[in-house]
Amino acid sequence: MSDPVDIAQEREQIQRDEAMAKLSCSLDAQPSDGICKGCGDAIDPERLVAIPTARRCIECARVEDKRSKLLAARGRP
Ligand SMILES: [Zn+2]
Repeated sequence: MSDPVDIAQEREQIQRDEAMAKLSCSLDAQPSDGICKGCGDAIDPERLVAIPTARRCIECARVEDKRSKLLAARGRP
């Protein structure tokens, strides 16, 4: 049971979300310069093809991923 008003509001919300997503995308999605921000080495070209905005090489991305998971785990009660 959907109220037509609800649907209109939902559609508006979705459009707003999409606009926001596009905005943040244009800010975050600058293509990487190909240099790892972690170790300063060149990022694997294959990785850049898969993720053109990658800021870190696969090794540093792995370390960073592990670190953020550890931090997230530690943050839990
Ligand atoms: Zn690196």
